[in-house]
Amino acid sequence: MSVFSSKSFDGHETVAFHSDAKTGLKAIIAIHSTTLGPALGGCRMWDYGDDQAALTDVLRLSRGMSYKNALAGLPWGGGKSVILGNAKTDKTPAMMREMGRFVENLGGRYIVAEDVGTSPDDMLEVSKETPHVRGVKGVGFDPSPGTAYGVFKGLEATVRARLGATDLQGIRVAVQGLGHVGYDLARQLHEAGAVLTVTDIDQAALAKAESELNATVVGLDDIYDADVDVYAPCALGASINDKTVDRLRASVVAGAANNQLAEDRHGDRLAQRGILYAPDYVINAGGVIHIYHEGPNFDRETTFAHIAQIGVTLEEIYQRAKKEGIATHIAADRLALDRLNPAGHSAGLHAAE
Ligand code: NAD
Repeated sequence: MSVFSSKSFDGHETVAFHSDAKTGLKAIIAIHSTTLGPALGGCRMWDYGDDQAALTDVLRLSRGMSYKNALAGLPWGGGKSVILGNAKTDKTPAMMREMGRFVENLGGRYIVAEDVGTSPDDMLEVSKETPHVRGVKGVGFDPSPGTAYGVFKGLEATVRARLGATDLQGIRVAVQGLGHVGYDLARQLHEAGAVLTVTDIDQAALAKAESELNATVVGLDDIYDADVDVYAPCALGASINDKTVDRLRASVVAGAANNQLAEDRHGDRLAQRGILYAPDYVINAGGVIHIYHEGPNFDRETTFAHIAQIGVTLEEIYQRAKKEGIATHIAADRLALDRLNPAGHSAGLHAAE
């Protein structure tokens, strides 16, 4: 297994491996950067098949968290952890407590939270061994409303930048996925006067959007051809790919989904087509900002004011993209690198894989 020569290794500060025969835990914690503060990032449990795949994932995701946290204006660096195994069949409370001891051994340089394959219940087990954990059942809050609000503010800023519209009255938005984030976003858009086209595999969510939000329902694949101003992907990743990128009729892409671009070149293609893309990790950072503010002193107003800054950060990214003649996903990476390396070596760099 290669670590330092791995394609995903990017000057990570720490990569720690841990195994425990008693609980069956096999885990990796990667700390990409603590320049801005302790490294916050979720713990993913996944049946990777082989160790190298797990390492590649944790290296890639931890770097992504450095960028996300930096652009969210948080005093947090970027880290991530992975547990190798099947979350449905292999996970036990004892294993999660052992994970807590692993986190504790890093002395607070890494703060863990839930991710794919882990839950607030699991974080409760982790919290029995370490205070360096967020999103604990009964203590943390659901970050989805924060994410939805951030996407709403980011979408507003992107519409303003691309279409010159000062509000969303009459703006046509296609929302793909009406889950925790997508439905809340659709509700806010409806309240702001936007006209909605929606799709989901969940028929109940569609019926609710039709009756409550006056939304027009279209088929799963038809969302890409919808005659709208904004495409808001809020379901799965990689929805902007070879099959869809040239079908979009929107002039703005602004949604919650992670990893919206199947490959970086799809971001370049959006830019070539004059479609303004709100980089996913910037616009969907409301959840992590919400997590930062959680705790006994939580103040909703302060938290949501911080989340609203996502719109300001996006404006900065759009200006930079224009000035440097680059696509917005590249401009976002450069801005993040500037914040991570205040000495400033980002010009010409393109950090995303
Ligand atoms: P969710 O599981 O609650 O909602 C996803 C929705 O998409 C569901 O309603 C599901 O039925 C629907 N869906 C699934 N396949 C679909 C398809 N092919 N076409 C259309 N709809 C489909 O998830 P969520 O928490 O709302 O998150 C949505 C996206 O935002 C995910 O990509 C997630 O990673 C990302 N995200 C979420 C948060 C958060 O705070 N929840 C934070 C950052 C990023």
